[in-house]
Amino acid sequence: MNTEPIDILIAGGGPVGAALALALQDSGHSVVLTEARSAEAGSACSPDSGSERGGKSGDARPIALSYSSRLILERLNAWSVLAATPIETIHVSQQGGFGRTQIRAADCGVPALGYVVTYDKLQQGLLAVPCSGRRMFGAKLTAFDGTTAVVLTQDGEQAFAPRLTVFADGAGVVDDRAVPAYSKDYRQTAVVASVNTAQAHRGRAWERFTPEGPLALLPDGADYGLVWTTSPERAARLSALDTPAFLAQLHAAFGDRLGAFTEAGERSTFPLALRYRRDDTQPHSLCVGNAAQTLHPVAGQGFNLGLRDAWELARLARDARDPGGASFRAHYRRARAPDRRACIQFTDSLVGLFSNSDPLLKLGRGAGLLALDLVPFARRFVARRMIYGANALP
Ligand SMILES: Cc1cc2nc3c(=O)[nH]c(=O)nc-3n(C[C@H](O)[C@H](O)[C@H](O)COP(=O)(O)OP(=O)(O)OC[C@H]3O[C@@H](n4cnc5c(N)ncnc54)[C@H](O)[C@@H]3O)c2cc1C
Repeated sequence: MNTEPIDILIAGGGPVGAALALALQDSGHSVVLTEARSAEAGSACSPDSGSERGGKSGDARPIALSYSSRLILERLNAWSVLAATPIETIHVSQQGGFGRTQIRAADCGVPALGYVVTYDKLQQGLLAVPCSGRRMFGAKLTAFDGTTAVVLTQDGEQAFAPRLTVFADGAGVVDDRAVPAYSKDYRQTAVVASVNTAQAHRGRAWERFTPEGPLALLPDGADYGLVWTTSPERAARLSALDTPAFLAQLHAAFGDRLGAFTEAGERSTFPLALRYRRDDTQPHSLCVGNAAQTLHPVAGQGFNLGLRDAWELARLARDARDPGGASFRAHYRRARAPDRRACIQFTDSLVGLFSNSDPLLKLGRGAGLLALDLVPFARRFVARRMIYGANALP
């Protein structure tokens, strides 16, 4: 087998790997992206490892893109193809407790608090943007020893000798690669579906905290994208219900603010965990996106953080003679550490604070939501963290 020398190999053409390939276009490095799924399958068929998803065909999970992600996607020429739905207001409340707040785009001086697009549209949109790097589909990375990467395609095995291998292959790999990693099972599962209500959404998103986990409704086209976090047992029961019974349960959990829920698309489920690598111990490699850290979707941070990983890596690679060298990799990790740490802590504390039925915590949460409602500065702080992450604008 011949081994082809290249500068950068990206293993995984999910939304983060696809964005990284675009961002590296003018870096002066030769880039190859290998995606396990075939081009025709798109995201409709999940590889046996590396996906968060435990579900069915297609991936309709709604991804809320932050304003800073929009700015990056514009620079990658990907924004216009996504046709994402703007969020103008986010309404936050808790089930069975007082306190609620509304965060408006005007509070932070931005045109929208975020933009919603389904996972499928995001990945396919990014892969549809013309790219000068080579993109291989149906090409699964099967071995990497720090120097050589072996990729399995329909035509057999192909070997590369990249200066840098970037793992963008999603959540499962951290454990597979047996490197030191932190992992926490939240014992929660997200039930995802597209749903309709009697009332039009008018750009409003809803986040309702229940003792079993948050329930989010995100405006997506004319529909809402539902992410309903609950116990794994209840998620299994909800998935098995017929549509009218599912809609009735949703109405009971969400309340009357939107009137009746009228329709629901296909449901899929995602078991939720926090996973992150403590450090990169394999030589000549880095991880980005979910391969580096997989977060609970409560604050809609996972892809936004992964996109900032990709953007920063490409920015630093532009000036790097050897992107696989130890000093480049250490520089990248240092640059990303504050944003990663802040997003992991912020998301994990939100899960702990809000997925809880302790009466004292409920009182505290109500007071917190009330305070957010009354103090514009606090609202702006929370909104800006969600919009920009811990780092400044790109
Ligand atoms: C219910 C839910 C809602 C969410 N909502 C939001 C949100 O609102 N906002 C937000 O920012 N984030 C959200 N997220 C998180 C977001 O989905 C992830 O952070 C994002 O998908 C990570 O992208 P990725 O490209 O790193 O990984 P993935 O999406 O997992 O993609 C990995 C890719 O690698 C490929 N692959 C795997 N193994 C190999 C291999 N060996 N060789 C080659 N290719 C391989 C796979 O086929 C896949 O295409 C949500 C997650 C869930 C579960």
